[in-house]
Amino acid sequence: MNESELDAIVIGAGFSGLGMLHSLREELGLNVKVFEKGSGVGGTWYWNRYPGARCDSESYIYCFSFSQELLQDWSWSGKYPEQPEILSYLEHVAERFDLKRNIQFNTTVTAASYDEETNLWHVETDQGDRVSARYLITGIGCISTGNIPDIPGLDSFQGDWHHTGSWPHEGVDFSGKKVAVIGTGSSGVQSIPVIADQCAELKVFQRTAQFTIPARHGSIDQQFIEEEVKPNYAELLEKARWSAGGIPVDFAKRSAFDVNDSERQAIYEAGWKEGGHRFIFGSFGDITSDLKSNATASDFIRSKIREIVQDPLKVEKLLPMDHPLGSKRALIDTNYFDTYNQEHVDLIDLNEDPIESITASGIQTKSHSFDFDIIVFATGFDAMTGSFFKMDITGRQGRKLKDDWSNGPSTYLGLQVSNFPNMFMITGPGSPSVLSNMPVSIEQHIEWIKDFIEYAEDKGIDIIEAEPEAERDWGKHVNEIAEKTLYMQANSWYLGANIPGKPRVFMPYAGGVGTYRKQCVEIAKEGYPGFHLSKHDSLNVAVAD
Ligand code: NAP
Repeated sequence: MNESELDAIVIGAGFSGLGMLHSLREELGLNVKVFEKGSGVGGTWYWNRYPGARCDSESYIYCFSFSQELLQDWSWSGKYPEQPEILSYLEHVAERFDLKRNIQFNTTVTAASYDEETNLWHVETDQGDRVSARYLITGIGCISTGNIPDIPGLDSFQGDWHHTGSWPHEGVDFSGKKVAVIGTGSSGVQSIPVIADQCAELKVFQRTAQFTIPARHGSIDQQFIEEEVKPNYAELLEKARWSAGGIPVDFAKRSAFDVNDSERQAIYEAGWKEGGHRFIFGSFGDITSDLKSNATASDFIRSKIREIVQDPLKVEKLLPMDHPLGSKRALIDTNYFDTYNQEHVDLIDLNEDPIESITASGIQTKSHSFDFDIIVFATGFDAMTGSFFKMDITGRQGRKLKDDWSNGPSTYLGLQVSNFPNMFMITGPGSPSVLSNMPVSIEQHIEWIKDFIEYAEDKGIDIIEAEPEAERDWGKHVNEIAEKTLYMQANSWYLGANIPGKPRVFMPYAGGVGTYRKQCVEIAKEGYPGFHLSKHDSLNVAVAD
């Protein structure tokens, strides 16, 4: 590849980067280079190798849709795809479509700056690369910069510690070990039961008790795949694309109050038995929008916690009382609550007994000193903006993305930022991706960006740039939609609430992937209103406010 003739630089080789590379190279014939920090493809699934890691989307719909042959040939083994299998899938995609020849691994992009004179993005890496291209596309994931809380004394800890989001590739041997897990979000809820099975003693440090529903994970239903999925993949995927959450299922429309108490109880019991997110979307249409309806589902889950967990002291700590179901990321689990019935598993409520420091031998809380061999941080991520801020991204006239987003991220459609021409984001803040089945959102972004670049190239347009007004309107729209949801009722990473000092801005678009797609399609049809499209000349240097 002749690097002096690069058309596009893509950052990241997860679902987003692989799909973008394939699309730009195969459909537009562009010369593309991908930089990837890891030694292999996979993104999230390369780094998150913690015990029990798997996706909450059912496997048949957690995939690329650009190749019918790929859809027909690939077979998942589990109902939900587990991390090693997702990684194999992405490896397979990279090999099958010969993507690795355009990917430079073990390379972290450190800086990217837009040059108004040449209309090029100049990219620098930690390996000393200095390359330029017309388009810069970030596929850096939205949950990829780990949050390790600033607890005094971590440096002094004599044991091992790991964050779930950068798990050692060789695995961690928990046998005979005293283990602490801090955090009970998706990663904690998945890893706690598996770690408990392997270690001598486990103490879970919980800040917020969680609602979680049994996943009922198991082998994939081959008959369902062969008879209902593979012959109908095109229709299923189309349904997913226009749905709220990127999955091809029908949501219940009835209200929780359209039925009497015993009918409602029976519906929740059936949902609990079936498991997974169907408990929410298959039962009542207003659980996620109406607090009273939500309370019936929240109460049902609390009753299940009381039923499963034997120790009344643990029950009290495990009951989520401070936020409604679904206002934080909805969780599904395997044996999460049952795990607390094991004698070697204990739970520390950080609201009663906060961590004061990490010591050479373990964790010091306000009232106890605990010894540990291993501490697991399942403490989440500096989501949506953290990975952008790790790079020094400079737009027109030296503007820094970090400064422009100091009060929270601001984008048009989650795809572009004013004053950063020809830079596109896949799953950026303001897009619905994190509230959906990711590959469906990612492919929508990829397709839309590819179409836009094709449109611009056909018309001789050199500069694509979101207009500040469109960006402001989109931010307002994202906010208005969020205000109507129950998401505003919890301290979650969607709002940046997990990172001390981070601006409280609801970052994802909560209007649903179908509604979002419709707006994107209309904008494309109308010739991309809200974007300033221009030919490059070296005087085109005006900065938009
Ligand atoms: P998370 O949802 O942000 O959970 C982090 C946990 O750590 C929370 O319990 C949080 O408590 C706690 N915590 C954070 N800082 C703390 C501190 N200083 N002291 C004590 N506790 C602290 O992170 P995650 O579990 O890694 O999941 C992040 C997202 O990744 C998920 O929401 C999901 O979108 C994605 N994910 C998906 C899957 C899947 O598909 N199954 C699996 C893993 C991750 P608070 O609740 O009080 O903040």
